[in-house]
Amino acid sequence: MNFVGHHILTVDQFDRADIQRVFKVADSMIPYANRERVTRVLEGAILGNMFFEPSTRTRVSFGCAWNLLGGEVRETTGIKASALAKGESFYDTARVLSGYSDAIVMRHEMMGSVAEFAAASRVPVINGGDGANEHPSQALLDLYTIDRELKHNGKRIDQMTIALVGDLRFGRAVHSLCKLLSLYTSIKFRLISPEALALPASYIESIQAAGHEVIQTSNLQEGISKADIVYVTRTQEERFDSPEEALRYKGLFRMNQAVYTEFCQPNTVIMHPLPRDSRAEANELDNDLNDNPNLAIFRQTDNGVVIRMALFALILDVVDQVDASSRPVNWYTARRF
Ligand code: ASP
Repeated sequence: MNFVGHHILTVDQFDRADIQRVFKVADSMIPYANRERVTRVLEGAILGNMFFEPSTRTRVSFGCAWNLLGGEVRETTGIKASALAKGESFYDTARVLSGYSDAIVMRHEMMGSVAEFAAASRVPVINGGDGANEHPSQALLDLYTIDRELKHNGKRIDQMTIALVGDLRFGRAVHSLCKLLSLYTSIKFRLISPEALALPASYIESIQAAGHEVIQTSNLQEGISKADIVYVTRTQEERFDSPEEALRYKGLFRMNQAVYTEFCQPNTVIMHPLPRDSRAEANELDNDLNDNPNLAIFRQTDNGVVIRMALFALILDVVDQVDASSRPVNWYTARRF
């Protein structure tokens, strides 16, 4: 794949070599994310960070990634704060914002919205999540995390067992991750959800067509028992017709230390795209796992910064210039990696 000047709208754009390229560039960003060095490679460049749907991690980490490369960020949050609320089209919004920015990250609740926006943009657009469809940068950071965690445990992505738990129907992070994992070999997928929130058939068919094993179950204990990775998700309440309907599915699967100790094999890695819903009726990933060294959720969020730096460096064609415009930092810093 040629990254330079291109949009990143779906993980369908990536093959295994592209993923390796992103991971290699992400590794080279660690000294910057770790605040050992600063680079000014994107000095003067402006990111349009356009989040028309709620976001904490994705919005802030894309902004930080751009800042860490030396650029400036302009952002808008929420539909109400933008002219989309006045009936402006994606076309007009994209034409306008792409006049102000060197790249745009965009999130919106409608499936396909970011692609429609990107078609009218004059600068590269990264999909920060389009409804229940896709979340490519999340899937890349998840896969990068899986790769690092498994290597640490002497394992590989090929042949691993992954249990995906919760709302697999509306969870866009899961959708994008399943597509990326399909590029690997002989993975055992354990899909744990209530029937109504099962992974859509089209995803299951493409996983199977790529030669992987799929078992669907609504039994958490059984599904997680041989997993190398347990990837827990939140009930995507904003995609249901009513809050009451979403409430029916909250709290059905609760990962906590007791369940981990009894049913998981040693060193099973626990992941979650976050936010985890910590309210009593849901609590799909209990705080009592916080001291479990196999809980990788905050390593995922740290990894999000280097993956997003890598995407910017690749699409803006500055990978080879990052180090040249860098210097050591001169303030106290805490290590992340
Ligand atoms: N933060 C992820 C997303 O935007 C997962 C979630 O919201 O549950 O898709």
